[in-house]
Amino acid sequence: MDLLNVSGIGPKSINLLHKLNIYTICDLLNYYPFRYEILKLDKLSLKADDEKVIIEGLIEKIPTVIRLKGNMNKMSLRVLSDDMLVNVVIFNRGFMKPHFQIGKEITIIGKWNKLKNTITASDIRFEKINGVKIESIYRTTQGLNKRMLSKYIDNAINGCINELTDYIPFFLSNKYNFMDKEQAIKIIHNPFDIESLKQAQIRLKYEELFVFMLKINCLKLKNQKQNNGLQREIDYNKVTEFIEHLPFKLTTDQLSAVSEIKDDLISPKRMNRLLQGDVGSGKTIVSIIASYINYLSGYQTAFMAPTEILATQHFENIKKLFNDYNINVELLTGSTKKKEKKQIYQKLENGEIDLIIGTHTLIQDDIKYKNLGLVITDEQHRFGVNQRSNLSNKGMMPDILYMSATPIPRTYALTIYGDMDVSNIKTRPQGRKDIITYVKNNNEIIDVLKLMKQELDSNHQIYIIAPLIEESERSDLENVYKLETNFKKAFKNNTIEILHGKMSSEEKDDVMNKFSKNETNILISTTVIEVGVDVKNATMIVIFDANRFGLSTLHQLRGRVGRNDLQSYCVLISDKSKERLEILKNTNDGFEISEQDFKLRGQGDLFGIKQSGDMTFKIANLKEDYKILLQAKNDSLEFLKNEVYTLDNKKIIDEILGNIDNLN
Ligand code: ADP
Ligand code: MG
Repeated sequence: MDLLNVSGIGPKSINLLHKLNIYTICDLLNYYPFRYEILKLDKLSLKADDEKVIIEGLIEKIPTVIRLKGNMNKMSLRVLSDDMLVNVVIFNRGFMKPHFQIGKEITIIGKWNKLKNTITASDIRFEKINGVKIESIYRTTQGLNKRMLSKYIDNAINGCINELTDYIPFFLSNKYNFMDKEQAIKIIHNPFDIESLKQAQIRLKYEELFVFMLKINCLKLKNQKQNNGLQREIDYNKVTEFIEHLPFKLTTDQLSAVSEIKDDLISPKRMNRLLQGDVGSGKTIVSIIASYINYLSGYQTAFMAPTEILATQHFENIKKLFNDYNINVELLTGSTKKKEKKQIYQKLENGEIDLIIGTHTLIQDDIKYKNLGLVITDEQHRFGVNQRSNLSNKGMMPDILYMSATPIPRTYALTIYGDMDVSNIKTRPQGRKDIITYVKNNNEIIDVLKLMKQELDSNHQIYIIAPLIEESERSDLENVYKLETNFKKAFKNNTIEILHGKMSSEEKDDVMNKFSKNETNILISTTVIEVGVDVKNATMIVIFDANRFGLSTLHQLRGRVGRNDLQSYCVLISDKSKERLEILKNTNDGFEISEQDFKLRGQGDLFGIKQSGDMTFKIANLKEDYKILLQAKNDSLEFLKNEVYTLDNKKIIDEILGNIDNLN
């Protein structure tokens, strides 16, 4: 049902709600407070100077309002609270004056200046607290304040709460004695005591994690049952030859990953493998060899990357590598022209294309393959669990290879990627030097410029990263355009280009092309280059406002350099969060960084997957709620293994799993 059905919500507020990612009534009902404020009455006589206080009192004197500079005003009044007469001041509430009558009871929240016998109030209310009151605090957006948001949510609770589905099967809610969903939602928004709030939170966390684990475990069980994958016969000498002709020697880890993949491909069991390795460890070539094996056995490969930039880069590299092998490689992205797209679809269907590289467009429903044998997803964590399954629906029974650099603490990986086999690339190619990382203040920029000059003089290239594209009124963060102006002044003899997500695909391709051919010395970019981009001659990356990024993101960004045996540098610029950034200075090991990030920020951007949606939980937190996660994991397995699907089960499975259930 549409948001407009909630009373009070009109077209204007809809747009504001969209800003908070609220699109449906369910989204609204599931828009939980991000914290609670517990209001508890204080006794003034027991409070020290400068403490926060909440008191109730009687108005003893009608307030006076004086105007201040710039439309501001200050209201002063006096109240009697617990036999003490105190002065109260509050700013910009002059409009409330008519409501203040002598003898009226009010609640005052503010700071207590004992010497001056004055409370500077942040809020004055006309209702009593009655002991303890728990207030829900929501993230809001400009134009939509807390009061309006609460109102909408309350209206949705009153009018549309039956929109919600309870995903916890009866036998489980019974087992744990959970309150029902409606009640939990009511309490989470309007708690009346801490005990029941906790119960509601646990129940909603459990549900979220249960749904999540159900998806994962469903995939896992399906995979176990699938011993009807493709069986291939290949002439492995050709593969060995291909490997010998590569411009470099594969590392031991790369070779064993290739061997594990080969075994999977020739066995009748369907491959469902995660190739994990830190940024720069050389995963791509392993997947290319996999696609070559697949080609030799007569099947098509689909290769997905999360961004167009990355897809294009893979396309260029792979085309070169396959140049002498008569393999037909094509690129398909969101910006491929309509006519060309049609031709590609046609060629995929009649088998003229052996290897197709693209973004998520490769899993659109209207693409048909003649004989898809292998699906590769690069930077798997950028795709959701849903997409994981969607992909597998494409071909007959394609084998699947996922690649991910995002290191995940091992225990969590086991749970979350429990449906996959894993190959690990632990070592980087030989000769690589550790990237030297510096953490600098903004006022140390001169050191940075010196280092940049040194690298540019050696004809090396540099990335510069800013969090914003252009100037923004609401933020003083660095932006790409401003940095471009500044660096063009500082490095007059060098070529500088910019790159960001708002540019057209052609522009982006053009910029990346020039940079990879060393026609551009400095590339100033947003995080669009975060994953995968591979330009060997780039030896330095400077990240402005580094404190704005999660450690895993920074580690990924840093991975853009150090891609050959030249010494590379990463400079993190920030006046804040130094301690966190120091972690990066001290280690280049992605696993360690993710463990530390996890300790510091809970799930944080651990998975770097905020974008993919289904691992960003609304209420659960993988770290704090790990016990609940394990419980949910076991319960979902029990639920799935229970062969007798009751009607209750069937409905839940269908709804949660959607297209996963169509998998045969
Ligand atoms: P990632 O694992 O981050 O995806 P890539 O696959 O992009 O890393 O590899 C990083 C760089 O290392 C690429 O330029 C690639 O050509 C190069 N590379 C990969 N394997 C080796 C190797 N065994 N020896 C030397 N260079 C390699
Ligand atoms: Mg990569």
